[in-house]
Amino acid sequence: MKTDIISIIVPCYNEEATLSYFRQEMQRTADSMSAAGDLDFEFLFVDDGSTDQTLEQLRRFAKQDSRIRYLSFSRNFGKEAAIYAGLQNCTGNYAAVMDADLQDPPSLLPEMYRLLQSGEFDSVATRRVSRKGEPPIRSFFARSFYKLINQISDTDIVDGARDFRLMKRPMVDAIVSMGEYNRFSKGIFGWVGFRTKWLPYENVERVAGETKWSFWKLFKYSLQGIVAFSTAPLAIASVAGIVLCFAAFVMICYIVIKTLIFGDPVGGWPSLACMVMFMGGIQLFCTGILGQYLAKTYLETKRRPIYIVAETNQDALK
Ligand code: UDP
Ligand code: MG
Repeated sequence: MKTDIISIIVPCYNEEATLSYFRQEMQRTADSMSAAGDLDFEFLFVDDGSTDQTLEQLRRFAKQDSRIRYLSFSRNFGKEAAIYAGLQNCTGNYAAVMDADLQDPPSLLPEMYRLLQSGEFDSVATRRVSRKGEPPIRSFFARSFYKLINQISDTDIVDGARDFRLMKRPMVDAIVSMGEYNRFSKGIFGWVGFRTKWLPYENVERVAGETKWSFWKLFKYSLQGIVAFSTAPLAIASVAGIVLCFAAFVMICYIVIKTLIFGDPVGGWPSLACMVMFMGGIQLFCTGILGQYLAKTYLETKRRPIYIVAETNQDALK
Protein backbone atom coordinates (compact mmCIF):
# COMPACT_ATOMS: atom_id res chain seq x y z
CA MET A 1 0.00 0.00 0.00
CA LYS A 2 1.49 3.33 -1.02
CA THR A 3 1.33 6.16 1.46
CA ASP A 4 -0.01 8.96 -0.72
CA ILE A 5 -2.98 8.84 -3.04
CA ILE A 6 -3.70 11.68 -5.44
CA SER A 7 -7.28 11.86 -6.65
CA ILE A 8 -7.59 13.48 -10.05
CA ILE A 9 -11.07 14.89 -10.56
CA VAL A 10 -12.12 15.54 -14.14
CA PRO A 11 -15.44 17.25 -14.95
CA CYS A 12 -16.50 16.21 -18.45
CA TYR A 13 -19.30 17.64 -20.50
CA ASN A 14 -19.41 16.39 -24.07
CA GLU A 15 -15.70 15.68 -24.12
CA GLU A 16 -15.63 12.66 -26.46
CA ALA A 17 -13.04 14.43 -28.63
CA THR A 18 -10.58 15.14 -25.82
CA LEU A 19 -10.87 12.25 -23.33
CA SER A 20 -8.44 9.88 -25.01
CA TYR A 21 -5.81 12.63 -25.34
CA PHE A 22 -6.30 13.49 -21.69
CA ARG A 23 -5.99 9.90 -20.58
CA GLN A 24 -2.80 9.35 -22.56
CA GLU A 25 -1.12 12.47 -21.28
CA MET A 26 -2.31 11.92 -17.72
CA GLN A 27 -1.20 8.29 -17.76
CA ARG A 28 2.31 9.35 -18.71
CA THR A 29 2.56 11.83 -15.86
CA ALA A 30 0.99 9.41 -13.38
CA ASP A 31 3.37 6.61 -14.35
CA SER A 32 6.47 8.71 -13.95
CA MET A 33 5.28 10.13 -10.64
CA SER A 34 4.32 6.71 -9.23
CA ALA A 35 7.67 5.31 -10.31
CA ALA A 36 9.57 8.13 -8.65
CA GLY A 37 7.71 8.32 -5.35
CA ASP A 38 5.62 6.50 -2.83
CA LEU A 39 2.28 7.45 -4.33
CA ASP A 40 -0.70 6.16 -6.24
CA PHE A 41 -3.42 7.76 -8.33
CA GLU A 42 -7.18 7.62 -8.41
CA PHE A 43 -9.05 9.09 -11.36
CA LEU A 44 -12.56 10.29 -10.80
CA PHE A 45 -14.31 11.37 -13.99
CA VAL A 46 -17.56 13.22 -13.51
CA ASP A 47 -19.80 13.04 -16.56
CA ASP A 48 -21.93 16.16 -16.34
CA GLY A 49 -24.90 14.88 -18.34
CA SER A 50 -23.07 14.61 -21.65
CA THR A 51 -25.12 13.89 -24.74
CA ASP A 52 -22.28 12.44 -26.81
CA GLN A 53 -20.11 9.34 -26.37
CA THR A 54 -18.43 10.59 -23.18
CA LEU A 55 -20.15 8.12 -20.86
CA GLU A 56 -19.44 5.14 -23.15
CA GLN A 57 -15.78 6.10 -23.18
CA LEU A 58 -15.71 6.37 -19.40
CA ARG A 59 -17.30 2.92 -19.02
CA ARG A 60 -14.62 1.54 -21.30
CA PHE A 61 -11.82 3.35 -19.43
CA ALA A 62 -13.08 2.00 -16.11
CA LYS A 63 -13.02 -1.59 -17.39
CA GLN A 64 -9.43 -1.19 -18.55
CA ASP A 65 -8.00 0.43 -15.45
CA SER A 66 -9.13 -0.23 -11.89
CA ARG A 67 -7.91 3.18 -10.76
CA ILE A 68 -10.52 4.86 -12.94
CA ARG A 69 -13.91 5.58 -11.44
CA TYR A 70 -16.72 7.64 -12.83
CA LEU A 71 -19.93 9.32 -11.78
CA SER A 72 -22.55 10.21 -14.34
CA PHE A 73 -25.12 12.90 -13.61
CA SER A 74 -28.76 12.55 -14.56
CA ARG A 75 -28.52 15.81 -16.54
CA ASN A 76 -26.15 18.74 -17.06
CA PHE A 77 -25.67 20.34 -13.64
CA GLY A 78 -22.71 22.55 -14.58
CA LYS A 79 -19.00 22.40 -13.91
CA GLU A 80 -19.37 23.68 -10.34
CA ALA A 81 -21.62 20.77 -9.43
CA ALA A 82 -19.21 18.35 -11.10
CA ILE A 83 -16.28 19.72 -9.08
CA TYR A 84 -18.30 19.38 -5.89
CA ALA A 85 -19.30 15.79 -6.69
CA GLY A 86 -15.67 14.94 -7.40
CA LEU A 87 -14.34 16.44 -4.20
CA GLN A 88 -17.11 14.84 -2.15
CA ASN A 89 -16.47 11.36 -3.51
CA CYS A 90 -12.72 11.25 -3.89
CA THR A 91 -10.74 9.16 -1.41
CA GLY A 92 -7.14 10.36 -1.82
CA ASN A 93 -5.26 12.39 0.76
CA TYR A 94 -4.48 14.77 -2.10
CA ALA A 95 -6.96 15.92 -4.72
CA ALA A 96 -6.67 17.91 -7.93
CA VAL A 97 -9.37 19.24 -10.22
CA MET A 98 -8.43 19.16 -13.91
CA ASP A 99 -10.23 20.04 -17.14
CA ALA A 100 -10.57 17.27 -19.69
CA ASP A 101 -9.29 19.42 -22.54
CA LEU A 102 -5.64 19.48 -21.37
CA GLN A 103 -5.80 23.22 -20.70
CA ASP A 104 -4.61 22.23 -17.24
CA PRO A 105 -1.28 20.62 -18.13
CA PRO A 106 -0.64 17.37 -16.21
CA SER A 107 3.07 18.17 -16.56
CA LEU A 108 2.66 20.69 -13.72
CA LEU A 109 1.59 18.00 -11.26
CA PRO A 110 5.05 16.73 -10.19
CA GLU A 111 6.08 20.26 -9.28
CA MET A 112 2.81 20.84 -7.41
CA TYR A 113 3.18 17.60 -5.48
CA ARG A 114 6.77 18.43 -4.56
CA LEU A 115 5.73 21.84 -3.24
CA LEU A 116 3.03 20.28 -1.06
CA GLN A 117 5.36 17.63 0.28
CA SER A 118 7.66 20.31 1.65
CA GLY A 119 4.88 20.92 4.18
CA GLU A 120 4.98 24.65 3.66
CA PHE A 121 1.67 24.81 1.77
CA ASP A 122 -1.78 23.24 1.90
CA SER A 123 -2.58 23.79 -1.73
CA VAL A 124 -0.83 24.69 -4.96
CA ALA A 125 -2.98 26.59 -7.41
CA THR A 126 -2.36 27.61 -11.00
CA ARG A 127 -2.83 30.94 -12.65
CA ARG A 128 -2.49 31.67 -16.31
CA VAL A 129 -0.46 34.75 -16.98
CA SER A 130 -1.51 35.10 -20.60
CA ARG A 131 -4.84 34.72 -22.33
CA LYS A 132 -3.39 33.68 -25.66
CA GLY A 133 -5.96 32.33 -28.09
CA GLU A 134 -8.87 34.06 -26.41
CA PRO A 135 -10.95 36.77 -28.15
CA PRO A 136 -9.65 40.19 -26.90
CA ILE A 137 -13.13 41.34 -25.97
CA ARG A 138 -13.54 38.31 -23.69
CA SER A 139 -10.16 39.01 -22.03
CA PHE A 140 -11.22 42.60 -21.49
CA PHE A 141 -14.45 41.63 -19.74
CA ALA A 142 -12.67 38.95 -17.71
CA ARG A 143 -10.09 41.45 -16.45
CA SER A 144 -12.77 44.02 -15.62
CA PHE A 145 -14.70 41.38 -13.72
CA TYR A 146 -11.70 40.49 -11.52
CA LYS A 147 -11.00 44.15 -10.80
CA LEU A 148 -14.61 44.77 -9.83
CA ILE A 149 -15.14 41.70 -7.69
CA ASN A 150 -11.90 42.22 -5.78
CA GLN A 151 -12.98 45.73 -4.95
CA ILE A 152 -16.37 44.75 -3.61
CA SER A 153 -15.63 41.38 -2.02
CA ASP A 154 -13.60 40.52 1.07
CA THR A 155 -12.63 37.20 -0.45
CA ASP A 156 -9.49 37.27 -2.57
CA ILE A 157 -10.31 36.17 -6.12
CA VAL A 158 -7.18 35.93 -8.23
CA ASP A 159 -7.20 37.12 -11.84
CA GLY A 160 -6.49 34.29 -14.25
CA ALA A 161 -6.85 31.64 -11.54
CA ARG A 162 -7.77 28.24 -12.92
CA ASP A 163 -9.78 25.65 -11.04
CA PHE A 164 -6.69 23.44 -11.46
CA ARG A 165 -5.09 23.02 -8.06
CA LEU A 166 -3.66 20.26 -5.91
CA MET A 167 -4.98 20.29 -2.35
CA LYS A 168 -4.40 18.36 0.82
CA ARG A 169 -7.27 16.53 2.49
CA PRO A 170 -8.12 19.19 5.12
CA MET A 171 -8.75 21.74 2.40
CA VAL A 172 -10.85 19.26 0.41
CA ASP A 173 -12.96 18.60 3.50
CA ALA A 174 -13.36 22.32 4.11
CA ILE A 175 -14.62 22.85 0.56
CA VAL A 176 -17.01 19.92 0.80
CA SER A 177 -18.38 21.36 4.03
CA MET A 178 -19.53 24.41 2.08
CA GLY A 179 -22.74 22.92 0.80
CA GLU A 180 -24.19 26.03 -0.83
CA TYR A 181 -26.29 25.55 -3.93
CA ASN A 182 -25.01 28.59 -5.86
CA ARG A 183 -21.39 27.61 -6.16
CA PHE A 184 -18.54 29.79 -7.35
CA SER A 185 -15.36 27.77 -6.89
CA LYS A 186 -12.91 30.60 -7.42
CA GLY A 187 -14.50 32.33 -4.44
CA ILE A 188 -14.88 29.17 -2.37
CA PHE A 189 -11.20 28.26 -2.75
CA GLY A 190 -10.26 31.72 -1.53
CA TRP A 191 -12.83 31.76 1.25
CA VAL A 192 -11.68 28.55 2.96
CA GLY A 193 -8.20 30.03 3.29
CA PHE A 194 -5.20 27.71 3.85
CA ARG A 195 -1.69 28.42 2.66
CA THR A 196 -1.70 28.52 -1.12
CA LYS A 197 1.21 28.68 -3.51
CA TRP A 198 0.48 30.13 -6.95
CA LEU A 199 2.13 28.67 -10.03
CA PRO A 200 1.94 30.92 -13.08
CA TYR A 201 1.91 29.37 -16.55
CA GLU A 202 1.23 30.34 -20.14
CA ASN A 203 -2.28 29.69 -21.42
CA VAL A 204 -2.66 26.43 -23.33
CA GLU A 205 -5.34 26.06 -25.96
CA ARG A 206 -7.89 23.26 -25.85
CA VAL A 207 -6.56 20.08 -27.47
CA ALA A 208 -9.79 19.24 -29.37
CA GLY A 209 -13.52 19.93 -29.29
CA GLU A 210 -14.78 23.34 -28.31
CA THR A 211 -15.42 25.43 -25.23
CA LYS A 212 -18.75 25.00 -23.43
CA TRP A 213 -18.83 28.62 -22.31
CA SER A 214 -20.61 31.14 -24.44
CA PHE A 215 -20.18 34.82 -23.67
CA TRP A 216 -23.65 34.93 -22.18
CA LYS A 217 -22.99 31.91 -19.93
CA LEU A 218 -19.80 33.56 -18.68
CA PHE A 219 -21.65 36.80 -18.04
CA LYS A 220 -24.28 35.04 -15.94
CA TYR A 221 -21.55 33.12 -14.11
CA SER A 222 -19.77 36.37 -13.24
CA LEU A 223 -23.00 37.84 -11.84
CA GLN A 224 -23.42 34.68 -9.78
CA GLY A 225 -19.91 35.15 -8.45
CA ILE A 226 -20.65 38.70 -7.40
CA VAL A 227 -23.94 37.83 -5.71
CA ALA A 228 -22.32 34.86 -3.95
CA PHE A 229 -19.27 36.68 -2.61
CA SER A 230 -20.26 40.29 -2.11
CA THR A 231 -23.19 42.18 -0.66
CA ALA A 232 -21.89 45.51 -1.97
CA PRO A 233 -24.55 45.79 -4.70
CA LEU A 234 -27.16 45.86 -1.93
CA ALA A 235 -25.60 49.06 -0.63
CA ILE A 236 -26.19 50.74 -3.98
CA ALA A 237 -29.82 51.45 -3.08
CA SER A 238 -28.91 53.18 0.17
CA VAL A 239 -26.10 55.21 -1.37
CA ALA A 240 -28.20 56.21 -4.39
CA GLY A 241 -31.01 57.18 -2.03
CA ILE A 242 -28.79 59.50 -0.01
CA VAL A 243 -27.21 61.08 -3.09
CA LEU A 244 -30.61 61.68 -4.68
CA CYS A 245 -32.05 63.19 -1.49
CA PHE A 246 -29.15 65.60 -1.39
CA ALA A 247 -29.63 66.52 -5.06
CA ALA A 248 -33.36 67.06 -4.44
CA PHE A 249 -32.62 69.36 -1.52
CA VAL A 250 -30.28 71.49 -3.64
CA MET A 251 -32.90 71.70 -6.39
CA ILE A 252 -35.63 72.72 -3.94
CA CYS A 253 -33.47 75.56 -2.65
CA TYR A 254 -32.72 76.63 -6.21
CA ILE A 255 -36.38 76.65 -7.23
CA VAL A 256 -37.53 78.50 -4.12
CA ILE A 257 -34.91 81.22 -4.53
CA LYS A 258 -35.54 81.48 -8.27
CA THR A 259 -39.30 81.84 -7.72
CA LEU A 260 -38.79 84.52 -5.04
CA ILE A 261 -36.50 86.58 -7.25
CA PHE A 262 -37.95 86.06 -10.76
CA GLY A 263 -41.58 85.20 -10.07
CA ASP A 264 -43.12 81.94 -11.29
CA PRO A 265 -42.81 81.38 -15.03
CA VAL A 266 -44.59 78.10 -15.88
CA GLY A 267 -42.40 75.65 -17.68
CA GLY A 268 -40.04 72.88 -16.94
CA TRP A 269 -42.00 69.99 -18.37
CA PRO A 270 -38.91 68.40 -20.01
CA SER A 271 -36.90 68.49 -16.80
CA LEU A 272 -39.82 67.00 -14.91
CA ALA A 273 -40.20 64.18 -17.41
CA CYS A 274 -36.44 63.47 -17.22
CA MET A 275 -36.56 63.35 -13.45
CA VAL A 276 -39.53 60.97 -13.35
CA MET A 277 -37.78 58.64 -15.78
CA PHE A 278 -34.53 58.85 -13.88
CA MET A 279 -36.14 58.12 -10.53
CA GLY A 280 -38.16 55.27 -12.00
CA GLY A 281 -35.00 53.79 -13.50
CA ILE A 282 -33.02 53.98 -10.28
CA GLN A 283 -35.85 52.43 -8.30
CA LEU A 284 -36.28 49.53 -10.71
CA PHE A 285 -32.53 48.98 -10.79
CA CYS A 286 -32.33 48.77 -7.00
CA THR A 287 -35.37 46.50 -6.79
CA GLY A 288 -33.71 44.30 -9.40
CA ILE A 289 -30.57 43.96 -7.28
CA LEU A 290 -32.69 43.05 -4.27
CA GLY A 291 -34.46 40.53 -6.44
CA GLN A 292 -31.16 38.88 -7.40
CA TYR A 293 -30.25 38.26 -3.80
CA LEU A 294 -33.75 37.17 -2.93
CA ALA A 295 -33.77 34.70 -5.82
CA LYS A 296 -30.51 33.15 -4.63
CA THR A 297 -31.81 32.99 -1.08
CA TYR A 298 -34.97 31.31 -2.38
CA LEU A 299 -32.99 28.65 -4.23
CA GLU A 300 -30.68 28.15 -1.24
CA THR A 301 -33.60 27.60 1.17
CA LYS A 302 -35.03 24.83 -0.98
CA ARG A 303 -31.96 22.79 -0.10
CA ARG A 304 -32.03 20.92 -3.36
CA PRO A 305 -29.20 18.47 -4.01
CA ILE A 306 -26.29 20.02 -5.92
CA TYR A 307 -26.16 17.05 -8.31
CA ILE A 308 -27.92 13.75 -8.94
CA VAL A 309 -25.97 10.66 -9.91
CA ALA A 310 -27.60 8.38 -12.46
CA GLU A 311 -24.79 5.89 -12.91
CA THR A 312 -21.44 5.10 -11.35
CA ASN A 313 -18.87 2.34 -11.11
CA GLN A 314 -17.94 3.34 -7.58
CA ASP A 315 -18.54 0.59 -5.04
CA ALA A 316 -20.23 3.00 -2.70
CA LEU A 317 -20.80 6.69 -3.00
CA LYS A 318 -19.57 8.58 0.01
N1 UDP B 1 -17.66 21.33 -18.06
C1 UDP B 1 -18.59 20.66 -17.27
N2 UDP B 1 -19.90 21.07 -17.29
C2 UDP B 1 -20.32 22.14 -18.03
C3 UDP B 1 -19.36 22.84 -18.80
C4 UDP B 1 -18.04 22.41 -18.78
O1 UDP B 1 -18.25 19.68 -16.60
O2 UDP B 1 -21.52 22.45 -18.00
C5 UDP B 1 -16.24 20.89 -18.05
C6 UDP B 1 -15.66 20.60 -19.42
O3 UDP B 1 -15.94 19.31 -19.85
C7 UDP B 1 -14.18 20.83 -19.20
C8 UDP B 1 -14.17 21.92 -18.14
O4 UDP B 1 -15.46 21.91 -17.53
O5 UDP B 1 -13.53 19.68 -18.69
C9 UDP B 1 -13.86 23.30 -18.73
O6 UDP B 1 -14.74 23.57 -19.78
P1 UDP B 1 -14.29 24.32 -21.11
O7 UDP B 1 -12.97 23.81 -21.57
O8 UDP B 1 -15.42 24.25 -22.06
O9 UDP B 1 -14.14 25.80 -20.56
P2 UDP B 1 -12.96 26.85 -20.87
O10 UDP B 1 -11.67 26.11 -20.70
O11 UDP B 1 -13.19 27.31 -22.25
O12 UDP B 1 -13.16 27.91 -19.83
MG1 MG C 1 -11.11 24.52 -21.62
